[in-house]
Amino acid sequence: MVDCDVRGEAPDARAVAFKSLGCRVNFEEIECLRGRFVDAGWRSVDFDQTADLYVINTCTVTGLADAESRKTVRRAVRRKRAGGLVVVTGCYAQRDPEALAALDGVDLVLGNKEKGQLFEHVQRFREDRRLAGEIWVDSEPTTENFLNHGSARGQGEQGSLRTRATLKIQDGCDERCTYCIIPTVRGASVSRPLESVVDEARHLGRSGFRELALTGVNTGSWGRDFARAGRSEATSLAKLVRALQHVGGTRMRFRLNSLEPDTVTDELLDAIEASPMFARHFHVPLQHGDSAMLRRMGRNYDAAVYAATIRRIHERFPEASIGADVMVGFPGEDEERFRSGRDLIESLPLTYLHVFTYSQREGTAATRMPGHVAEDIKRARSQDLHALEDDLRRAFLARRNGSEELLLVEGKRGPRGGLTGLTGNYIRCELPVDRDASENEFVQVTIENRGEPRLAGAVPVATPNGCLD
Ligand code: SF4
Repeated sequence: MVDCDVRGEAPDARAVAFKSLGCRVNFEEIECLRGRFVDAGWRSVDFDQTADLYVINTCTVTGLADAESRKTVRRAVRRKRAGGLVVVTGCYAQRDPEALAALDGVDLVLGNKEKGQLFEHVQRFREDRRLAGEIWVDSEPTTENFLNHGSARGQGEQGSLRTRATLKIQDGCDERCTYCIIPTVRGASVSRPLESVVDEARHLGRSGFRELALTGVNTGSWGRDFARAGRSEATSLAKLVRALQHVGGTRMRFRLNSLEPDTVTDELLDAIEASPMFARHFHVPLQHGDSAMLRRMGRNYDAAVYAATIRRIHERFPEASIGADVMVGFPGEDEERFRSGRDLIESLPLTYLHVFTYSQREGTAATRMPGHVAEDIKRARSQDLHALEDDLRRAFLARRNGSEELLLVEGKRGPRGGLTGLTGNYIRCELPVDRDASENEFVQVTIENRGEPRLAGAVPVATPNGCLD
């Protein structure tokens, strides 16, 4: 048995393995926890390796996510070293801690609020093992605990250094969409203070990341809660964009994650327009293109308002990638409403879709609604929208053919053996195989449409050294 001491005095570094399920917010939190443990002398190992401690950040957005979380917990229990620990946290732990504590081999269950003190909980637990199956979950999950990344730089694929970091700037949500469990498990909307965001962005820039994805549960609502918390006057994401625009100079790009339609203000578009290092990429969840369905979903806009929002973005940034979440099979979706929703999508300058299939989530209003849709119909509608998505992607790449873009090169190689990367406007590209570029480098390229929906060619633009800096 390894005689662990979390203060990092053990002769050989103890091994800790992390697994994050679900969204980018969960992923970001795990990266911060990894940094905390590594800075304290632990060794971070892959989840399929043997470790002294396993930490699973669970998701509960659907029944499937619950099942995946339980499966992951069981994998950890099977792998843990004698005397090792399995700690389960995240949204499933927040929603149903008893169910997870009841799984064989689970040592500690922490809610979303307690997640920030996970390191301390492990220390306390190591010193007093009588506490197996312990549950620490506050029924009020709202937390102002935004973690820092520490010094560790996460690994990308094949051991490559990751080029992009995720920075959580907001947590929780004040909306009440009828299919969504998130406000129940993550609480009210809370924003990370501006100075703290800027400091952490600087730190990540200094750590070598060349792109920061700014994420949250309802990212666009950043700053609206300040007044409620009596911290300062309410403010908006536009202010944060302006504060970040010079962080990292031309060496770091920012990408905003999902923006609810009501948060896409002209003030925000002005701020992004004035900030060349903010990616021309907008992801604006739609969920459904039919207004009657949007009302059933409890969304705070109708089809016309959504359409106007997307057109406003496109007029301001014609080169931008604009994506949308859409859901098929929500209760009450008959063929006519599906068609009218699909027609709206087809009429808008969207460039890609994330297609979700509605599934019942215990604890949400939608489960009690009449008109649940048969699984085979859901499948057919999902296939239909996936085909539409391929058309949207092809049309966008055809429009961008021959345009110049800034490509951030990643470590992965494409089907023709060239290094791949991502442009600001979310085009995944492959460089010529003989193009000697290095990971984490910005390269000015000309887009070459290959007729494939998800990968384009990229020809480096002949500049003195072929790169930005
Ligand atoms: S905006 Fe709606 S779907 Fe998104 S997290 Fe909030 S309640 Fe859930």
